[in-house]
Amino acid sequence: MNEFALIEAYFKHLGADSGAPACDMGIGDDCALLSVPSGYQLVVSSDTLIRGVHFPESTPAYDIGYKALAVNLSDLAAMGATPAWFSLCITLPEFDEQWLGQFCHGIDTLVRSTPIRLIGGDTTKGVLSVSIQVMGLVKSGQALCRHGANVGDDVYVSGRLGEAGIGLRLVLDEPILPRMNSSQCAYYLNRLNRPSPRVVLGQSLLNIASSCIDVSDGLLADLNHTLDRSGKVGAILDLKNIPIAECLMTTEQAAEFGFNNENKAREFAINAGDDYELCFTARPSHRNAIQGLATQLVVPVQRIGTVVEEPGVYDIAGNFVNVRGYRHFQ
Ligand code: ADP
Ligand code: MG
Repeated sequence: MNEFALIEAYFKHLGADSGAPACDMGIGDDCALLSVPSGYQLVVSSDTLIRGVHFPESTPAYDIGYKALAVNLSDLAAMGATPAWFSLCITLPEFDEQWLGQFCHGIDTLVRSTPIRLIGGDTTKGVLSVSIQVMGLVKSGQALCRHGANVGDDVYVSGRLGEAGIGLRLVLDEPILPRMNSSQCAYYLNRLNRPSPRVVLGQSLLNIASSCIDVSDGLLADLNHTLDRSGKVGAILDLKNIPIAECLMTTEQAAEFGFNNENKAREFAINAGDDYELCFTARPSHRNAIQGLATQLVVPVQRIGTVVEEPGVYDIAGNFVNVRGYRHFQ
């Protein structure tokens, strides 16, 4: 099968009947043509996944497709944007029908719960890598940005942190596997390979949150980006109140992962990457609205601290909390 037949067979229809916004012209010409409705801004972001860097060699094709789109949708979620279109640049080592079918199935599944339409891309041969660019829409001037946190705002996080991190440990340290029951293992692997981009939560936080970021490199590292961009402010976090993976909360299980006290387990969870939860700030007057949203959307949202003038992150006893997020080129 040549490149053009492959595009026709596998990619052309992804997201076409998902309910995503229409496009004026999609796959098939030199470029796609898109119209941004008046009164809206186009919100654009890209993320690349490379085999061996962003996912282990053993990752199933379905999960690679799912995750590649999910991590991009998470960026749109962090801005409060509504997903509209995406392009897909894929480098494949060979033409493998079964692999491609599974890869597209992963994307297709996510597209059905979070509508977005594939409008173009590029297909090449080489070491497996998947690069997706997402485009979303937000009412002009309303996007949630990193720079809006104010001194006195509350700090919130969605979900439970460290779950994807545990999933990665399960993949990399296979000897641990027998000590968790299979449904627990499946849960954490799922959190690693099929993150839940918090798109609806992000949209619902428009006009409520003062700043927002998605947690891709670890809560502390990402919260620090927000604090830096908001005029070098800081935060006091109630570390014991940060929701973390359940298996890290039982002493015996945490010990099996090598965390022999509660603080070590907590430190792992707040520095672990790949959770794709949202970390946002909001005025204390929005507390009821935010709890109401969390209940309505059935997404756990926890208030974990306060924005303060002094730069840096501190625990409630005033101790400086170290950041150990994931960084490339280091
Ligand atoms: P060109 O050579 O002009 O860049 P291509 O031959 O690479 O065009 O692509 C032909 C059409 O197929 C274009 O509309 C392009 O956007 C689309 N396309 C190519 N690869 C992909 C892909 N992986 N996913 C979606 N669309 C793709
Ligand atoms: Mg061309």
